Amino acid sequence: MYSPAVDIEREFGLAFWDETCPPLTGFHAHAGTLQAGLMVEFHTRMGPGQSVDQRLKMPRWMRTFEQLGGKVEIRETDLSDLERLAASSELVLVAAGKGEISQLFERDSQRSVHEKPQRTIALTYLHGMTPRSDCGGINIHVHPGVGELIHFPALTLTGPCDIVNLEAVIGGPMDDWNDVSNPADHLEKTLQQIRSHFPWEAHRFENVRLTDELGILAGRVTPTIRKPIGTLPSGRSVLGIGDVFVLNDPATGQGSNNASRTSKILFDAIQARGREPFDASWIRSTVDAVWEATRCSASLTNTVLSRPPHALKVMTACSKHPRLAREFADGFGDPSSMTWFFDPLAAEQKIESYA
Ligand SMILES: Cc1cc2nc3c(=O)[nH]c(=O)nc-3n(C[C@H](O)[C@H](O)[C@H](O)COP(=O)(O)OP(=O)(O)OC[C@H]3O[C@@H](n4cnc5c(N)ncnc54)[C@H](O)[C@@H]3O)c2cc1C
Repeated sequence: MYSPAVDIEREFGLAFWDETCPPLTGFHAHAGTLQAGLMVEFHTRMGPGQSVDQRLKMPRWMRTFEQLGGKVEIRETDLSDLERLAASSELVLVAAGKGEISQLFERDSQRSVHEKPQRTIALTYLHGMTPRSDCGGINIHVHPGVGELIHFPALTLTGPCDIVNLEAVIGGPMDDWNDVSNPADHLEKTLQQIRSHFPWEAHRFENVRLTDELGILAGRVTPTIRKPIGTLPSGRSVLGIGDVFVLNDPATGQGSNNASRTSKILFDAIQARGREPFDASWIRSTVDAVWEATRCSASLTNTVLSRPPHALKVMTACSKHPRLAREFADGFGDPSSMTWFFDPLAAEQKIESYA
């Protein structure tokens, strides 16, 4: 998570890992191919962000929630539960991520750009990586036509680690994960792909091991924007938040940041409502505010994944202009400041303004 989202956790007294999680203070980008050689390389300061394993974070937050008087029940929720909750509660928020129950919320075909996954994702938690000496943060390596290698320090169950995310272009040479069935094979495939497609980075992975057998993941995400108001068979409304509403490919690391921003908006809107009911007009204005705060994360991710020519021009310009590089890196934490990056003309003007 980038610094603005971690700041929200600090504001609420929920940033319990400031002392133990390695800070993400740098942003390093590299684009090139084996044939064409180096196209882009820059690094800059950013943040500081933080990547805390959700397996550490969520149990701690659930305990805190209970200490504050909340009640946690761990079980599968179905439509009849939602009906019961909606009948007995002032407000029901559904944060079911990619769970099946999210289908209660209709896909928004106007706002959704993609109908299919854009990458095959393979994520791995590792101990033993050799760090960069000049950039303790996010490293993004782009191999045009093949995919991306993204890695950054993090905190997991067994202490500090590195997270490695391979993003394979669908149908490309790295899109080769179907036959991987166990953690050892997953690690081997990851290392093999790094050696083949990101050889300049392979030396950092010579002595790695998995942090634990569950610290791996491979799959695909169809980036999807849904309509955030779900109507139950009874006609009552429930509100979809987080990935239920705006689901991005993880390439730009936006989802947890959106979740944090959204929680703050909801908290403020709920407080401001006082004793008034959460009626249709409150729901409408609240979801509009959430969309306003999260929509640019989808534009940023779509631009990075589709890689239009102007995106490469911007990255090339970042190699020459350190202040543009810093602005670009900090934009990942605040995509609403990046609208210039989504549009070729505005991107040209931005580059010129730094020239
Ligand atoms: C590989 C990968 C890497 C990522 N990297 C980053 C990153 O670097 N930065 C970032 O900001 N984001 C990242 N994300 C995205 C981030 O993890 C999600 O956006 C974020 O967790 C969304 O939070 P959420 O609460 O909406 O959903 P989730 O975190 O998915 O939580 C939903 C929960 O609901 C539960 N659930 C679902 N259905 C039911 C049901 N019927 N009954 C009961 N429980 C149910 C699920 O089990 C799950 O625990 C990444 C995602 C992936 C897949």
